[in-house]
Amino acid sequence: MEELMNYKNLYNKIENLDIKGVGEKTIAALKNLGINTIMDLIYFFPRTYEDRSNIKKIGEIRSEEYVVVIGRIVSIENRKTKTRKTMTAARITDGTGMLDLVWFQMPYLKKSLQIGEEYVFIGNVKRGYNFQIVGPEYRKYSGKLSEEIKPVYSSNRNLSQNGLRKIIRDTIKKYIPYIEENIPCEILQEYKLMGRKEAILKIHLPKNLREIEEAKNRMAVEELLILELGILSKRFQLDADNTSKYKLNDDRHMVKKYLNSLGFELTRAQKKVITEIYKDLAGGKIVNRLIQGDVGSGKTIVAVLMLLYLVENSYQGVIMAPTEILAVQHYLSVADDLAELGVRVEILTGSIKGKKREKLLSEIREGVIDIVVGTHALIEDHVEFHKLGLIVVDEQHRFGVEQRKKLRDKGEISNLLVMSATPIPRSLALSIYGDLDVSIIDELPPGRTPIKTKWIESDNDLEKAYDFIEKQLVKGRQAYIVAPLIEESEKMAVTSATELYEEMVRRFPEFEIGLLHGRIKNPEKEETMSKFKKNKLQILVSTTVIEVGVNVPNATIMMITNANRFGLAGLHQLRGRVGRGEHKSYCFLIAKTDNDISKSRLKVMESTTDGFLIAEEDLKLRKPGEIFGTRQSGMSDLKFVDIVHDVKTIKLVRDISIEYLKKYRGEIRENTLRMDIVEKFKVDEIK
Ligand code: ADP
Ligand code: MG
Repeated sequence: MEELMNYKNLYNKIENLDIKGVGEKTIAALKNLGINTIMDLIYFFPRTYEDRSNIKKIGEIRSEEYVVVIGRIVSIENRKTKTRKTMTAARITDGTGMLDLVWFQMPYLKKSLQIGEEYVFIGNVKRGYNFQIVGPEYRKYSGKLSEEIKPVYSSNRNLSQNGLRKIIRDTIKKYIPYIEENIPCEILQEYKLMGRKEAILKIHLPKNLREIEEAKNRMAVEELLILELGILSKRFQLDADNTSKYKLNDDRHMVKKYLNSLGFELTRAQKKVITEIYKDLAGGKIVNRLIQGDVGSGKTIVAVLMLLYLVENSYQGVIMAPTEILAVQHYLSVADDLAELGVRVEILTGSIKGKKREKLLSEIREGVIDIVVGTHALIEDHVEFHKLGLIVVDEQHRFGVEQRKKLRDKGEISNLLVMSATPIPRSLALSIYGDLDVSIIDELPPGRTPIKTKWIESDNDLEKAYDFIEKQLVKGRQAYIVAPLIEESEKMAVTSATELYEEMVRRFPEFEIGLLHGRIKNPEKEETMSKFKKNKLQILVSTTVIEVGVNVPNATIMMITNANRFGLAGLHQLRGRVGRGEHKSYCFLIAKTDNDISKSRLKVMESTTDGFLIAEEDLKLRKPGEIFGTRQSGMSDLKFVDIVHDVKTIKLVRDISIEYLKKYRGEIRENTLRMDIVEKFKVDEIK
């Protein structure tokens, strides 16, 4: 048996584990923890570490997390639950606060845990009425912690923490010689990563907390590499015949002309993204790309440049927006500019009807119209194109995969760019599991003064804010005022927006004020937007229909009423409507609230304008269950990578993977790596 052991055998069933003292019962307990192979056991890493510096003070517990606390028992009693189970409830303190502990069906604990004595407790803190831990592990605290750092594993009732520690320690000792490096040598060297054996040892049996970090970093890269290579190698084979699908003339005269007319330089980040897209186009590849960039980072120009490039190659293009307002906005901002270049841009939305619509449709079909801006009305079957070459989908999170596909099917060459200002995990998961490449515009155009944001609680401060707004208007600036978010009924939303509008008319009699809400239809809506854009209206009162994309650089005030009713992403989107021009901009968040989460949100808004940071904070303020819409995406079983915080690592490893596959023509050359990928994806041999 022993001499047969090799790397591959590490993937054998856990039943084959040959460790003294591990019998059937233990194996069953291990399987219960999701450990099915020896490799699973080696990769069953600690949840946390017991270490002096890692002990949590009860008073410092703020959120649901896995903790090690040392506490003295204040009270302990057995109760019966409604389902007639025995529940042992204890309360502990460490001088900084109280924490509740609960166990089920373990009545003997009342005897073994002594009031007044100190114990180490380990477990997952949940937020109920108070913070509490259900079923924590415990052991007597002897007055000091040992010098060594002890790993803490998720264990269960049938396997004690100490028991599991010993099994894993023995397993590592016995089987680590068979572990082989799975990160290609060149990558290991270039990114100075820790070796695999060393990393495994350091994670299970660390000497200090710092070396754990380095080991975890290596593991994060390994984990992503296996995932990415698995996905991409399949795609690589598909892509092998995704070249020279079409040939574009490289002249780009229109692109250059438009660039010259802009009056500003593209940012480094915009140029980088454009180069990434050009690369695909130059190879005649079908473009399939997600462009992520904060509000105001200049995604639209990138899209327009790409559209022009295709138009000058006699293709048509489409910009699809999630709302009619945004479609109108896009149309207004590009149509005039492009007309000067001889490009014909038209808008097609649901509210364009009858003869006008017929004419539009036939002109699109004949190819007279170069670029069509619209809403999902563009997806309808009777919209046919002469020669569609590029589809731009703005603010992708409102469009489903199905809708995208439907649109693509209309194309001659269905190049697709998806723009998103919301760096949410969903789009990330999409990019990794779906069919999209990702580009990130991680820089705002220069000269933007950060938007100053103030959370307003009192009526007194609100009056001051109105005075301030008036001064801005007198200086020639404009303001958005957002009506309360009312989801219950559109009618109520309309009423509240209308009331707010009337109040503003009374308050600011010397200024022109416009109103937008869901009941106002085109062309009135279009006219209001257009007037605001031309500064014929100084204040725009609106429901959140203006949330996405609207661009009026002269508007410097964003006032959001009942701001506590919005999520962070929504607030950030709204605020992104200002701060787009040369003048300093201000955001007022009107909110009276006692809700802690709302308060945290408002404080986050006051403290930063960085969209990626806000997205992270947003996720932290939500419960884990609310975050991942796409459970099956495979991203959910990543152990070392946090898809919210590790965006950059994910992108890096993706690039490394692509480079690797290119270099070796889609082949995974290292046996060990190939084996790990096969195991991860449990498919037949990957070529
Ligand atoms: P978003 O990424 O939110 O879609 P937009 O494309 O609407 O951003 O751009 C916001 C504003 O910034 C527009 O007024 C646009 O003209 C301007 N802009 C875009 N790129 C630059 C740049 N490189 N330098 C200066 N202004 C720019
Ligand atoms: Mg935009």
